Amino acid sequence: MATMEKIFHGYFARQTTLEKSTNPYANGIAWVEGQYTPLQEARIPLLDQGFMHSDLTYDVPSVWDGRFFRLDDHLDRLEASCAKMRLRLPLPREKVKAILVDMVDKSGIRDAFVELIVTRGLKGVRGAKPGDLDRNNLYMFVQPYVWVMDPEDQPVGGKAIIARTVRRISPGSIDPTIKNLQWGDLIRGLFEASDRGATYPFLTDGDANITEGSGFNICLIKDGVLYTPDRGVLQGITRKSVIDAAKAAGIEVRVEFVPTELAYRADEILMCTTAGGIMPITTLDDKPVADGKVGPLTKKIWDGYWGMHYDDKYSFKIDYSQ
Ligand code: PLP
Repeated sequence: MATMEKIFHGYFARQTTLEKSTNPYANGIAWVEGQYTPLQEARIPLLDQGFMHSDLTYDVPSVWDGRFFRLDDHLDRLEASCAKMRLRLPLPREKVKAILVDMVDKSGIRDAFVELIVTRGLKGVRGAKPGDLDRNNLYMFVQPYVWVMDPEDQPVGGKAIIARTVRRISPGSIDPTIKNLQWGDLIRGLFEASDRGATYPFLTDGDANITEGSGFNICLIKDGVLYTPDRGVLQGITRKSVIDAAKAAGIEVRVEFVPTELAYRADEILMCTTAGGIMPITTLDDKPVADGKVGPLTKKIWDGYWGMHYDDKYSFKIDYSQ
């Protein structure tokens, strides 16, 4: 059983080892134009359209306790995002996988946040002729695991708000199923959350439905049923794991429009993302969610989610030479 104490205890022990490492890549390693560099020294070409026009897509898989988690699911989503953007992975997928595993091995990092970014490259779409746009760029890096909600906060849960000053960009403007770095609305939400004494903004679609937040999907639990929005959101891989874990625990799941008012009546609320996993919300708009404690179904999903990290069906072991 993947209990919270066991999972976090193991993580902190591995962190202590990592902090003592003298490996030059222990704080992160990047792959740019075929070269490995320590992450802090990695640079991108200024004229890359990814930087100039956010003309890119990206994905973030993770490594936990020396095992890559759902890597193929992340690469499937990245390839689907590329296709929707008329981008292409510049390297064969198996080669990308081999480089990623090599980077994790070289860094010696056991719990990692891994990012792949595919950009248009140096030539922009405006005025381009056929054949001009076939030099897409790939950037990759591996760094120590990132927590959207710190482990210390997960047993008690975090504070969220329903954003009032900004709505999630419409799917007709930016397709949220393409993982993207257009974060203007999410950043505004983060500032509003901070101004209102909270940490996490939940954005609506402007029509009184919940969408998602600054780097996470949202799930509400009411009367034993888990609800998560089907529209206006990234199809999160963690959300997929939540659905798998919920179903395995016999919890009914509904992926549909989720009205904002349901959040105020919810028995439990959780956010989910690769960087932090299952993150309970126990205060919403300054009021406790139900009794203000992390609820029993969230705990079951939490345990199921972390258990999957040790299951060969969802993860594979990395052979470290370090
Ligand atoms: N929604 C947004 C806007 C995100 O940026 C992310 C992750 O960064 C998520 C949802 C969660 O996706 P995943 O579970 O695949 O990490």
